[in-house]
Amino acid sequence: MGPARAADLEKLGLRTVEDLLYHFPRRYEDMRLRKAIREVAPGERVAVVGRVERVTERLARSRWGLVVTRALISDGTGRMGLLFFTQSRRLPTYLSRQLRPGMEIEAFGEASLEGDLLVIKNPVFAPAGQASLHLGRIVPVHPLAGELTARFLRGLIDQALTEYGGMLEVPLPFPVDPPVKALSKAEALRRVHFPADWGEAEEARRRLAWEELFFLELALEWGRAALRQQRRGPLCGRDGPLVRSFLRRLPFALTASQKEALAQVAADLESGRPMRRLLQGDVGSGKTVVAAYALLKAVENGLQGALMAPTAVLAEQHLETLSRFWQGLGVSVALLTGDLPREELARLRREVAAGRVQVVVGTQALIQAETAFARLGLVVVDEQHRFGVLQRLALSAKGENPHVLIMSATPIPRTLALCLYGDLEVTVLKELPPGRQPVRTRWLTPDQRPRVYQFLRRQLAAGRQAYLICPRIEAEEGEAGAVQRAKELAESEFQGFRVGLLHGRLLPQEQDRVLRAFRRGEVQLLVATTVVETGIDVPQAAVVVVEEADRFGLAQLHQLRGRVGRGTAPAWCLLLADPRTPEAKRRLEILVETGDGFRIAEEDLRLRGPGEFFGLRQHGLPELGLRAADLLADVDLLAAAQREARQILAADPTLEKPPAPLWRAELASRYPRLLPEPV
Ligand code: ADP
Ligand code: MG
Repeated sequence: MGPARAADLEKLGLRTVEDLLYHFPRRYEDMRLRKAIREVAPGERVAVVGRVERVTERLARSRWGLVVTRALISDGTGRMGLLFFTQSRRLPTYLSRQLRPGMEIEAFGEASLEGDLLVIKNPVFAPAGQASLHLGRIVPVHPLAGELTARFLRGLIDQALTEYGGMLEVPLPFPVDPPVKALSKAEALRRVHFPADWGEAEEARRRLAWEELFFLELALEWGRAALRQQRRGPLCGRDGPLVRSFLRRLPFALTASQKEALAQVAADLESGRPMRRLLQGDVGSGKTVVAAYALLKAVENGLQGALMAPTAVLAEQHLETLSRFWQGLGVSVALLTGDLPREELARLRREVAAGRVQVVVGTQALIQAETAFARLGLVVVDEQHRFGVLQRLALSAKGENPHVLIMSATPIPRTLALCLYGDLEVTVLKELPPGRQPVRTRWLTPDQRPRVYQFLRRQLAAGRQAYLICPRIEAEEGEAGAVQRAKELAESEFQGFRVGLLHGRLLPQEQDRVLRAFRRGEVQLLVATTVVETGIDVPQAAVVVVEEADRFGLAQLHQLRGRVGRGTAPAWCLLLADPRTPEAKRRLEILVETGDGFRIAEEDLRLRGPGEFFGLRQHGLPELGLRAADLLADVDLLAAAQREARQILAADPTLEKPPAPLWRAELASRYPRLLPEPV
């Protein structure tokens, strides 16, 4: 390959022969339909076979020196013109070589009428009767870049399949339910690129998807089994007086889901193995109390606990919540964020290192190298989707295999969770605390803003509080920003009401001050950016208005809506938007239709594709190396792959029995970072 072509291939992400083999068609063109010229109708995409009668060339009257080459062909039933438009006066060699009078050719394209002559413009053509990659079959249409032509790339892939296809073979088990056809990998790859019929391509893709998902699940289950067998976690005893008195004094009765979650967490902590649990629950489902329980249980067993939040504001709120839950229990809790004065931070870190602080609540600063714990026993990570997998590992490396509890309001579809968090056990808080009312969601156009303001004033006057969310801090290009909006509203429509402003560029102390004022009811209308998106819990807030709602993603809007409806007053979410794309419109419709976080997550996945889904890139989804598999379409295969992997590992935990050693080698090359160190 010359450097220019190599560079073009590189633009498509193609560096190796294997990349090329996995460069799947974007779509296919069915070129199998051949007709006699007399039977061709204008508008049809069709192939004809005929003899070349005459070839003429003429310079088109255009500034670019376009050359039009015309060939007249006939097949005994009629005549047809083939038109080729080329840039240069010199005919491309393939044209001049293969378009000579007397030759029999096959041509494919869309027929149209020119005067009373049927023509095909820029047809695909080749000498008739020659087996071809480009004609007379279902022809793959591959993504292209730079100067690459479809013909060239097709030929290259064909060559790679012939010369290298057989070198990638790994023995595989094939499931019966759902059925996967036991094709060799070489054959499956060939059929995806050059299928003989429609069914064959999809069948072959599923075969390749199965292979990917099989190895993915084998890696995840292998890691999970290794964790179960080889590591010991800090051991906790049954609930003692401290935990029992916390439970007794809770200001509410736990929901059934919360009780179940507590029982599972207790079993983990008392097992002697490190907990690896994901606690999923829609916004407002009450995850914090589960964290408070787990942390207190660690404390009661002489361990330290850490609670990580994605923002300083949220960390501060958690500190307050924990302090309230644990009032009078004598637990020493500290807030550790990156913006503390240097001396204060150093002092706190010394206290943590000496073990005098029992529970640390903080932001990422926590995981910076300087924070050492005396005996870290439990790490709770809130709102996991903001953290990468690596951060999660960095924190758990700080103790002797501390227990890890990850809390996420991101309702990842269950099957996807299985794949992403294959190393975690999953607990779901299925219900919301009693008395919650669904948030009434309405989508309004921006010209209805006066009505919205009037509604807001009535709500505030009735003692409720509200958020008004803007997509940006400062105004730009005539679009309102939070700063201007807050000022404007305080001076006009909301004169006499107490308006606050919250955004990420305020000093953290200022953010805390505003949020506290809002929580105490001193601020009635909080104009804010998406800093309030995650976790903020102010039960009296009953209305959230989102300006330019089409600017936000579906998950974000669901999170924003989750800021209200946390109390017992009827709650409202008003979306102001004039969406410009059908997708943005669809997002708003979905939100109005449903409050079910899981459905929203699935719709989101569908609208955006897995790559964009909740920023899954950070989760390392591309690292999973799925090229043939589609997590939504192949969910059945994913589940089957997990069953298969579990069975294999149960019978052969170290993958020693042939062909398992080959699988181990395959895992090492596919997932060098996913696998635990050999112990
Ligand atoms: P999230 O799961 O979104 O983090 P929180 O833990 O912040 O939810 O809880 C949301 C609100 O519901 C809080 O005000 C909390 O005190 C309250 N809450 C939690 N559990 C219950 C319950 N069982 N009954 C009543 N209120 C509850
Ligand atoms: Mg929360």
